[in-house]
Amino acid sequence: MVSQDLPHPVAGLDYPKTLQEFDEWFSSEDACNAYLRRLRWPNGFRCPSCGGDNAWTTTRGQLRCATCQRQTSATAGTIFGGTRKPLRTWFQAMWYVTSEKLGGSALGLQRVLGLGSYRTAWTWLHKLRRAMVRPGRERLSGTVEVDETYVGGLEEGVRGRQTERKALVVVAAEEDGRGIGRIRLRRIPDASADSLTAFVEDSVEPGSIVHTDAWLGYDRLKSRGYVHQIHFLHGNKKTPSELLPRVHLVVSLIKRWLTGTHQGAVAPEHLDYYLDEFTFRFNRRRSRARGLLFYRLLQQAVQVDPVTYSQIVGGKRP
Ligand SMILES: [Zn+2]
Repeated sequence: MVSQDLPHPVAGLDYPKTLQEFDEWFSSEDACNAYLRRLRWPNGFRCPSCGGDNAWTTTRGQLRCATCQRQTSATAGTIFGGTRKPLRTWFQAMWYVTSEKLGGSALGLQRVLGLGSYRTAWTWLHKLRRAMVRPGRERLSGTVEVDETYVGGLEEGVRGRQTERKALVVVAAEEDGRGIGRIRLRRIPDASADSLTAFVEDSVEPGSIVHTDAWLGYDRLKSRGYVHQIHFLHGNKKTPSELLPRVHLVVSLIKRWLTGTHQGAVAPEHLDYYLDEFTFRFNRRRSRARGLLFYRLLQQAVQVDPVTYSQIVGGKRP
C-alpha cells in the first residue's frame, strides 16, 4: 500500500481533443488507470463488496477497500476485466476506433497497435462494440421512417450459399427537417409483424409518427400507440427509396461501410454488433471533437459486463 487514493469527481467533460493531447494525457499505465477510475467512480470510490468509500492503492495498482480489505480494480467487471495487455494499448485501440470517421477493421487495428495476432484485434473490436450501446438509452421520437432491407451476401466467395448469408436488417431513422436525426438498426429473422412490431416498440417512443410502406407487417403499430402513416407506391411514380429517403440513405451508407471498411467479411451472426458500431458513430457524427466519442466509448466500457472470446464467436449477447 503506497497511498490513500480517493479518485476526484469528474468535473464536467474532460477528454483529449487531439492525438497530441491523447498522447500527453495517457503517456503511462498509471495515467490510464487514474482516468478509468474517475470514469468508473465519478462520485468517488465505492467498494463493490461493502459500499465503503475509502480505498488504498496497492503497489500492483489494485485498490484495497479500507473497510473490508477486499481488492478490486477499475477494470474488474468491465470489458477490460482480465486483460493481460496494458490499459494504454486499449486506450489506443479506442482512439483508433473513434477518431477515424469510418472506424477501422481488425487488420487495421492489428497493424496500428502492432498486435501479435489478428484474433486479438478482432476480439478487441468486438469487445468495444459491446460498449457502443449506452445502457438505458432513450428511444427515437418525433417522426420516424422505418423499413427493412437485405444486407449481404456478406461473405463473398462462398459460392452458391450467398443467399443464405444475406441478413434482413430493419432500420429506423428520425426525420430532422430534410435531414436525419438519430437511427436504430437491428437484424431480424423475418419481416413478420412480430419481428417488426417488437423492433419499433424497442426503438421508437409511443406517440411518435411512424412512416412505413404498405407492408402488412406494420399493421399493428396503430394499436400499439403510434401514429402510423403509410406511404403507398401504388399510383405514384416514386421509387421505394424516394418514399422513405432517410432509411434508404442509411442503408446505402451501411452497405458501403461493410463492403469498404470491413471488405464484406462480416458473418450474419456478428452483424448486430457492426450495426451497433455504425449506429454509435452515425448518431454522433455531428460531434465537434472526435475525442468526445472516445470519452463516450470509455464511459460506456466501464458500465458494460465482460464478454469472453467464445461468447463473441457464438454471437451471443452477454
Ligand atoms: Zn469494501
